Amino acid sequence: MRKGLNVKRIVQRVRDGELLLSDGAWGTFLQKKGLKPGECPELWCVDHADEVLDVARSYIDAGSDMIETNSFGGTRFKLEVFGLQDRVAELNRAAAAISREAAGPDRHVIASVGPTGKMLLIGDVTEEELFEAFREQAFALEAGGADAVCIETMSAIDEACLAIKAAREHDSLEIISTFTFQHTADGGYHTMMGVTPAEAAGAAVKAGAHIVGANCGQGMEQMVEIVKAMRVAVPGVPIMVQANAGLPKNVNGVDVFPEAPDATARWIPAVIEAGASIVGGCCGTTPEHIMAIGKALKSYKGIGEIKR
Ligand SMILES: [Zn+2]
Repeated sequence: MRKGLNVKRIVQRVRDGELLLSDGAWGTFLQKKGLKPGECPELWCVDHADEVLDVARSYIDAGSDMIETNSFGGTRFKLEVFGLQDRVAELNRAAAAISREAAGPDRHVIASVGPTGKMLLIGDVTEEELFEAFREQAFALEAGGADAVCIETMSAIDEACLAIKAAREHDSLEIISTFTFQHTADGGYHTMMGVTPAEAAGAAVKAGAHIVGANCGQGMEQMVEIVKAMRVAVPGVPIMVQANAGLPKNVNGVDVFPEAPDATARWIPAVIEAGASIVGGCCGTTPEHIMAIGKALKSYKGIGEIKR
């Protein structure tokens, strides 16, 4: 248990046999609340803190055991796009504090860390610069009250592993590492950088991640095969899944996510059987999706022993 929290660590809860509910979308939720294209989402942690708190509370009210933070683009490289690179500490700290306020001492705050948009492969940035950027962000998230970080939507192994190692500098943080996969023509799943689920999970654990998994992507159904591949690659390591509400369709310039809460929830037993023990949503999911997933997790609990 961490100081100030009334709950065991996430990994311990999974080892004790719990199935845990995470939260749903933040970006698409904030867009519904009026976040405009070209606006910096993280700035809302200061300028529209009440709206950000409302997102966090919506998921707590829906039953989430853990919530993320509005800090997906909170590295200096992402904030630089908006001229906000000098406000990394302030914005990430505020993001974590808002989610902690909603979570209280009984739920986890798993602070969001997304890709920097820089690529090591093409010499965009050095390893040291990336590491330092992630370290700076993780420090502020921890200071704001996060008990875990969720390094998510990753597609490059090198970037994800630097983020994991940077977060590992903070002993108190549990580290979740999730990648985003697409179904490819050869019938398998790969990230945009060509990484398979097994490769991603293996590398993340080696770098120090406590929990691995997949997020975003094409919907809950696709997660079943991805989780199976990860389960084989990293036996005994908790797996998290946060799927989009299906594959978005562009309707008049707006992404529309087609999957209704019941359709998402239908795949929960299969995702658990495959080896996942923490489930939530990503883009396009709502508190209604989270409630439906939570119901599916609860009813699964009765079925008996699951081998993980
Ligand atoms: Zn997403």
